[in-house]
Amino acid sequence: MTEDMSPSSNTRSLNIAVVGAGLGGLSAAIALRQQNHNVTIYERRDFGGEVGASLSCASNGSRFLEEWGVYIAAAKPVVLKSLIMHDWASGEVQIKYGLGDYREKFGTDYNNFHRIDLHVLLKETAIARGCKLECWHQATSLDTEAGELRFENGEVVNADVIICADGIRSQMRGQMGITPRVTPSASCCYRCIIPTARLLELGLEDFVGNDAIEFWGGYGINKIVMSNCSDNGVVSCYCFYPAEHNNLREDGWNISTTPENLIATFPGLDPRVHKLFAHADDIKMWRLYVHEPYPYWVRGRCALLGDAAHPMLPDQSQGACQAIEDAGALGIIFSDQYDHLSVTQRLQLYEDERKPRATRVQEASARARTDLSERIGWSSSTDRPGKLTIEEVCGYDMKNHVAGLVAEAPSIVSVVH
Ligand SMILES: Cc1cc2nc3c(=O)[nH]c(=O)nc-3n(C[C@H](O)[C@H](O)[C@H](O)COP(=O)(O)OP(=O)(O)OC[C@H]3O[C@@H](n4cnc5c(N)ncnc54)[C@H](O)[C@@H]3O)c2cc1C
Repeated sequence: MTEDMSPSSNTRSLNIAVVGAGLGGLSAAIALRQQNHNVTIYERRDFGGEVGASLSCASNGSRFLEEWGVYIAAAKPVVLKSLIMHDWASGEVQIKYGLGDYREKFGTDYNNFHRIDLHVLLKETAIARGCKLECWHQATSLDTEAGELRFENGEVVNADVIICADGIRSQMRGQMGITPRVTPSASCCYRCIIPTARLLELGLEDFVGNDAIEFWGGYGINKIVMSNCSDNGVVSCYCFYPAEHNNLREDGWNISTTPENLIATFPGLDPRVHKLFAHADDIKMWRLYVHEPYPYWVRGRCALLGDAAHPMLPDQSQGACQAIEDAGALGIIFSDQYDHLSVTQRLQLYEDERKPRATRVQEASARARTDLSERIGWSSSTDRPGKLTIEEVCGYDMKNHVAGLVAEAPSIVSVVH
């Protein structure tokens, strides 16, 4: 299932604890194991809960998956070739924007995964490479200076480095002294999936086998985002709507609702999409929040990663890609090339490398919530100077950037919070 990618042999091995076995934590484990570190991942529960929907992985994420030798084909991606805008009411195609020579330009495909397929692949890869996975380990407290981690089950472990990848509601973030400033978004989201075989039975073949992300709406709060994943076996929809519609107060990933509710939320929408909704599976409601960027990501021997560090609205489809970039940065910084730096210097370098870029994507995701023209891929920087572009996101050379930061070493050496 996974290629043989033996860890590099020169690096001085560190003991690294990763809290959270989501996409970010597993990616970090793979990247650090590849640099010959001893990695243990601690996950609060077992797997087998949420199935989720589609997750697009642009080349800034896919590049690292390829570099780590993750066997991407096993996660059955659909390779995206275009973005399509439909008329809200009639469904007529208004714009088809081809992504053109994406692989040639950015070096990898634009992969669209079923989230669970990517998660299983990363978990299997991490274990096959020699990372240890400890389930039923809910981390409860951190001693950031000593590198000590305590769990609800009473266990205590020490590590040279602790990567806190415990998601948007991270407990470890609080342990590092950060109190998030959070406001509920004006938007909520339903998500649902449907097998393509069912769509064909329903006469909805227009939605099957399209190597595209398809949009209805997107200027204002209402937006439907549809894509094929899992070798074109599944179609997934994200459906954004005004929060005041149902005043959803519950929080979490697993709040179910009915097809009738889904349809009633979007009156006047393309009847073909309503028909899909009427037969959809696994319809979940999702409350969205806006987190202001945190003041820092690193304290002592501990660093935040992924949604724990930079939770973002889903409108740039970049949350997982940015988590994979975080992992990529750790892999570069904890390679033997930077062995001359101490753990604290390396973690500071990680923050210096990652925080400005992830913050920029986080802010652009919030703008894209109600303005599709802010989404990377739809337009270029020339129509609005300073906006986030597909070139900036997908054409990024992290290794060079890290080398540049190291060349300005004085800023790395001062680690004072
Ligand atoms: C519906 C939806 C659609 C999305 N679409 C896209 C997309 O198209 N493209 C994209 O790039 N991103 C997308 N994202 C964002 C992306 O899924 C997230 O940004 C990404 O999964 C974050 O990964 P993570 O590992 O940081 O956090 P999570 O996936 O939340 O993982 C955190 C893990 O930590 C565990 N944990 C929590 N607390 C503890 C504790 N105290 N001790 C031990 N373990 C703990 C949790 O059980 C979980 O396994 C989407 C997100 C959602 C919800």
